Amino acid sequence: MENQLTFETWENEAAEKLNKSLITPGEVLKWAYGTYGNDIVYACSFGAEGVVLCDLISKVNERAEIIFLDTELHFKETYELIDKMKERYPLLNIKMVKPALTLEEQAAQFGEELWKGNPNFCCSLRKIKPLETELQHVKAWISGLRRDQSPARSKLEKVNRDERFKRIKVCPIIDWTWEDIWTYITLYELPYNLLHDKNYPSIGCEKCTVPAVNQADTRSGRWAQTGKTECGLHVNMEGK
Ligand code: SF4
Repeated sequence: MENQLTFETWENEAAEKLNKSLITPGEVLKWAYGTYGNDIVYACSFGAEGVVLCDLISKVNERAEIIFLDTELHFKETYELIDKMKERYPLLNIKMVKPALTLEEQAAQFGEELWKGNPNFCCSLRKIKPLETELQHVKAWISGLRRDQSPARSKLEKVNRDERFKRIKVCPIIDWTWEDIWTYITLYELPYNLLHDKNYPSIGCEKCTVPAVNQADTRSGRWAQTGKTECGLHVNMEGK
């Protein structure tokens, strides 16, 4: 196993060198699994980037651990896609991670339809806390972020010091475009979420996702008209 770069041992100069040396997603993933072994997990949302990254990961580590933050509020098309991915990649360890509270318990404690009144808190309970718990067992995590998804993501590198979760965050397809993603899906005939064919480029929970309202912005159907743009997994939303 290669010398480990961790949140605690991070050095800017060494990280910059490393980021310059890792070019393709395959190189990034080989470095990541070679460095962290079982101490790394991919948090996958099974969007278009997610199916691409699952395929790329399976070529480097066919038994990799992949977690899906199952808020219990996803579209049926998303759950159907996950079943298809489990069939196509039977060795990948795809795990459904549930929040501590059921929807009924959440409604009893914090009110019905929390996603309407306080979406940041709802995301915190159903996505962020469960991810925090999962990341306690590892030193690094993989994400399918791309720079051109949003201004908040435009400064990310392939290997990052993640201040939010105090872990190393690895983004193998950070410099891919939306076109690159679909070229790969078509080339390898990957299954994908059928909602993509209905003008849903970015897909989250059913309660908070509508078809894209601005064709130039793939994330414009997420929390549309609310001013919220991120669930908080990739930016710190606390206090917002
Ligand atoms: S995306 Fe919406 S429904 Fe899903 S956890 Fe966040 S606020 Fe709740």
